[in-house]
Amino acid sequence: MTYSESEKAQGFGTLAVHAGQVPDPSTGAIMTPIYQTSTYVQSAPGDHRGYEYGRVSNPTRTALEANIAALEAARHGIAFASGVAATDGILKGLEPGDRVLAVTDLYGGTYRLFVQVFARYGLHFEFVDMRDMERLGRALRDDVKLLWVETPTNPLLQIVDIAAVASAADAVGAHLVVDNTFASPYLQRPLELGAHLVLHSSTKYLGGHSDVVGGIVCTNHDGWAEKLRFQIKSSGAVPGPMDCFLLLRGTKTLHLRMDAHSRNASQVAEYLHAHPRVERVMYPGLPTDPGYAVARRQMRLFGGMVSFQLKDDRVEAAVQVL
Ligand SMILES: *Cc1c(COP(=O)(O)O)cnc(C)c1O
Repeated sequence: MTYSESEKAQGFGTLAVHAGQVPDPSTGAIMTPIYQTSTYVQSAPGDHRGYEYGRVSNPTRTALEANIAALEAARHGIAFASGVAATDGILKGLEPGDRVLAVTDLYGGTYRLFVQVFARYGLHFEFVDMRDMERLGRALRDDVKLLWVETPTNPLLQIVDIAAVASAADAVGAHLVVDNTFASPYLQRPLELGAHLVLHSSTKYLGGHSDVVGGIVCTNHDGWAEKLRFQIKSSGAVPGPMDCFLLLRGTKTLHLRMDAHSRNASQVAEYLHAHPRVERVMYPGLPTDPGYAVARRQMRLFGGMVSFQLKDDRVEAAVQVL
């Protein structure tokens, strides 16, 4: 859950492989075991070694949380059963009447949770193109408590300037959440750019093998960490120990995979950009892309996702290409 000064000095690959994981004290096993247990022996009532009940915490989960928190330069990591469960956990930290400003291009499941679930409980959602700081400034009223940013966005790969939006949030006392799923902490570290919370669907790049569903929130904000741990305990959307083990295996190769994904995507984007039947390619690594300058500044590489529009705008044409 926390990462030390000595870990900060290590390179990303070293952190990816080692952070949060110590050899098992009872056997010396180098890989964190899958602690498939719901409860723990207490030597006397209330006298335990930090673990009481599997909903609240689990040692395999603790190792995963510390590992990903280190990659995001965060003091706290709180793992959830899925990306949407992590989003749900953050929204439950708000009060009825609070307003959330979100980017206009947003993962469909996040949008559904906002407008079909939490809007019914008195939260207000408004969608703003946060590439336009003037527009964002006009929308930043007193009741705005949270700004919700994806960058690059799913699916249009729009780029939002995290540092600029973070300082706009700070100016009105709101908090900024960045869904970092499309970049991963290897390419982009939102907390270092001023975001208050960073969220992942670890189902995607962190897991990397299409064999696990998970989510995580990382933060340096103690108040938010406490709220999220309270949600884990109270609502119980926890990942199982096997899932945590699979995610720990996934993050060990994150940096290698992201280098390869970014290299491959650049080539695909350039190929499509030059193709006579393609109208427009959306990839922040193309110098012609509107997000290029900001992406260059805030990302290490441009990532593995590309979207594009055909000149032939009939649905059948898109289906045929797919
Ligand atoms: C997949 C995804 C989510 C939701 O995560 P799940 O693990 O599928 O619940 C959230 N945000 C983005 C950007 C995603 O791609």
